Amino acid sequence: MLRLFLAVSLTVVGLFAGGPVNVVLWFDTEDYIEPAADDAALRIATDLEKLGVRATFKVVGEKARVLESRGRTDVIRALSRHDIGYHSNFHSIQPTPALYLEGMSWLDGAAEFERRERPGVDDIRRIFGILPSCYGQPGSSWAPQTFRALLRLGIPVYLDEGEQVGIDDQPFWFGGMLNVFKMGRYMMRASLDDEGQLPQAFEKFDRAAAELESKGGGVISIYYHPTEFVTTAFWDLNFAKGANPERSEWKKPPRRTAEESERCYRILNRYVEHMKARPGVRFVAARELPLIYEGQGVRGGDRAVIARHMAARQTFLVTQRSSLSAADMLQILLGIEPALVEGPTVRGVTSIRAGVISRAAFERAKADAAAAIRGQRRLPSEVWIGAERLSLADFAATLGGDDGAASEVQVRKGNPEMERYVATDAHGAFSWPIHPDGFSAPQLLELARLQAWTLKPARLK
Ligand SMILES: [Zn+2]
Repeated sequence: MLRLFLAVSLTVVGLFAGGPVNVVLWFDTEDYIEPAADDAALRIATDLEKLGVRATFKVVGEKARVLESRGRTDVIRALSRHDIGYHSNFHSIQPTPALYLEGMSWLDGAAEFERRERPGVDDIRRIFGILPSCYGQPGSSWAPQTFRALLRLGIPVYLDEGEQVGIDDQPFWFGGMLNVFKMGRYMMRASLDDEGQLPQAFEKFDRAAAELESKGGGVISIYYHPTEFVTTAFWDLNFAKGANPERSEWKKPPRRTAEESERCYRILNRYVEHMKARPGVRFVAARELPLIYEGQGVRGGDRAVIARHMAARQTFLVTQRSSLSAADMLQILLGIEPALVEGPTVRGVTSIRAGVISRAAFERAKADAAAAIRGQRRLPSEVWIGAERLSLADFAATLGGDDGAASEVQVRKGNPEMERYVATDAHGAFSWPIHPDGFSAPQLLELARLQAWTLKPARLK
């Protein structure tokens, strides 16, 4: 019987031909108030190491400094054997990123985020000896300006969960970073509160894994916080609804009993063991994501196909060979080598009333747009035709529809379909107990829609 069982298992492994299921298991390591959370991080890192699983610990700057001042080199060393990401300098101390960035422009906001966050990244480097592999925002305090700043800080991956932007529940490129975000049905966790629900969690994982296998592979995103294993309420409720008490007034979160904590660790271990046992499943740290996904560079592209696409709609296009953002395609249509660029900083407006533009004027406008993009590494908000202008979307549609030969170029109306991948609920997308009551961030979503020129699905190698 045993022999038969072994033979069957080997056959299953041998026949496995589905795409790889990459599990990104990450822990937001952020509680700098309750010292028991340090022990929880140590325990989780040690347990996972025993299981041969590499996770990603996104560490808050203040948490790293607290570990250092408490002399927890044991925790720092154990986490370092996994991957280290970054989870903001102070997490919930006011003002959180979306709050101060909502009123700021693209460039000013990026500079302000960098000013506030660079010291945290420096501390992670000093304490853990490594540049963080990824960033994810505190709570739902997401903002598009952070992407420009994070690239300047040398962080290439955005790993978190939220509603603001995403494509079909799988990784994507946005703002020059590889994003594992808005993962929908591929974001899951087993409840730490009820071991009896584990079979359902296994089933949900198996269903998602089977779906990805049949589609050629993909990512499943799973996250926890070490503090959840030892507390029953979040440490940062000190800062709820915009509150900002002095350190001396910070209250510790309510603790779980030792038995409850053991149950939480057991649930995580059983959950991970279940995933590990499935053929084709591999655990991938944030640092490895850029190795298993194709870069955002473009390999070729049929100009006629791109022109037809851009004349009708400005959104990404996935071909046999490449994944192309609207920004990639605009550069190809302008005859320049597609490079990593930013989206426009403001929404341009079309002023031109005539239905056509002369060939000479349009060619000058194209040359001017190409020079602007090459010089600034950013798409212009609008393109000038003499004293009149076309919004970027109208310009792209007009360029796509132009045969390059007629003496007059027909002006076309843009159709920026890529904006559909950005949330519209400016209140709901930023809902978080730490944000002030009634907080909404419509300007952040508008900036995100403009940066959606850079949006495209990521492709597994
Ligand atoms: Zn967090």
